[in-house]
Amino acid sequence: MITGMLYHFPRARFVDENGIYGQVSHINSEATEAAAELGNPDIQFVAMEVMDVYHSAETALRILQEKYGVDIKALMFKVAAKNEERGYYK
Ligand SMILES: [Mg+2]
Repeated sequence: MITGMLYHFPRARFVDENGIYGQVSHINSEATEAAAELGNPDIQFVAMEVMDVYHSAETALRILQEKYGVDIKALMFKVAAKNEERGYYK
């Protein structure tokens, strides 16, 4: 069951400034930064970069919602159903 707010971070200006290709590329760069921190003994640096990925993904979802009309709540249910079928929640 999915409850609560669709987004956790405030709406970033990149929703207006970026297209979906640029934003997906940005998620990739943030994921690369997270991976680069894996050797850091201070886990907070990894956590910070993973949170950047999360924020960047939210921005991509806002772009999909606002510029392409994707129903994000319906999408969440669809993805959760797919992952339920795959046994991810057991
Ligand atoms: Mg970063």
